[in-house]
Amino acid sequence: MGSLYFDHAASAPLRPEARAALDEWFGRTGNPSATHAAGHLVRTAVEGAREQVAECLGAQPADIVFTSGGTEADNLGIKGLAEAAAAGRRHLVTTAVEHPAVRESVRWLASRGWEVTEVPPTRDGVVPAGDVLDAIRDDTALVTVMAANNEIGARNDIGAIGRVLHERDVAFHTDAVQAVATVPVDVEAWPVDALALSAHKFGGPQGVGVACLRSGVAVAPVQHGGGQDRGVRSGTFPAALIAAAGAALVATVAERDELHGRLEGFRKLLVDRIAAVDGIRVNGPDAEEQRLASHVHLSIDGVHPDDLGLALDRAGLHASSASACVSGAGKASHVVEACRIHGDAALRLSMGTTTTIEEVEEAAAILTDVVLRLRAGEPVVEAPHSPTTVGA
Ligand code: PLP
Repeated sequence: MGSLYFDHAASAPLRPEARAALDEWFGRTGNPSATHAAGHLVRTAVEGAREQVAECLGAQPADIVFTSGGTEADNLGIKGLAEAAAAGRRHLVTTAVEHPAVRESVRWLASRGWEVTEVPPTRDGVVPAGDVLDAIRDDTALVTVMAANNEIGARNDIGAIGRVLHERDVAFHTDAVQAVATVPVDVEAWPVDALALSAHKFGGPQGVGVACLRSGVAVAPVQHGGGQDRGVRSGTFPAALIAAAGAALVATVAERDELHGRLEGFRKLLVDRIAAVDGIRVNGPDAEEQRLASHVHLSIDGVHPDDLGLALDRAGLHASSASACVSGAGKASHVVEACRIHGDAALRLSMGTTTTIEEVEEAAAILTDVVLRLRAGEPVVEAPHSPTTVGA
């Protein structure tokens, strides 16, 4: 079958709608902020996408700020809200399982005098809403809790947290980068003050993201310059990337329920096949509403994580492998450590729009074969045409 791409969580394939938008806008002459007709024309791509994104998120167009990706959107949401917080409120609540884009932003604030409370997850990777709310103090200015975890795929109850924080006038940021492809995101219903998305996780191009910043909530700029986007994000708009992100999000939302249902079926099949192998455990919540349909996180005994990653790649299965041991070979990720997950290797298989049932069957067969061969010290069968792994 050639190669099997099971790393959609690292970077999803470009949707045809996004490619069409890139073809339409890439290379057009004119700065979207220029006052002449050439500039105005390119600006229509940016403003059209802003409206599309706003509608997809239940936001107002004025809430949408385009960034270079999820990392910048997280930095802007967190540092921007923190910098604008009222004097005397210097406490922040976060979780132990955030992506480095959030984790390092929080660490940077801590180095500048912020006090941070880090709420641990359950062994399933879920951060209980009650524990987050219990951590709120009178001087808490900001809470940041991811909507869904990128490694385990566990979801958090953003609505339960957001409703209380809104009442208590505490700013709330959520990283919805992994959630938006399969989970409805509505900034009004949740409600959140700042939300981060990355286009290449939902079929848009790499290099563009969205910070949804509720109008009326003070956000300080993180990078300084011409102030193109609402005065909080400077830099020339990459019109083609933005148009493609808008087109990809519209398609994502239109097909989301159907994709979710399809991936649930695939996930069940994959889990059934893989869990039949001794020494392989599926991590994360069982309950459908507490996890993403797209992610399967495994602990695998009796294999070294480096050998597993290499062997799977050689066999044509492109997935994300890492150490899963807190005490054994290699260094486990902070997420695996926080969830107290054990095993010699950790593996994330993530699916998306292009995944087929045949690929799921094949992936399960390859994984089983590779694990059994590695344990037996036998060579791994190479895929006929295995291209370089995409994503990170
Ligand atoms: N947040 C989460 C949960 C992610 O999974 C990622 C990327 O893996 C990011 C943020 C960063 O996004 P980007 O790659 O667009 O900078």
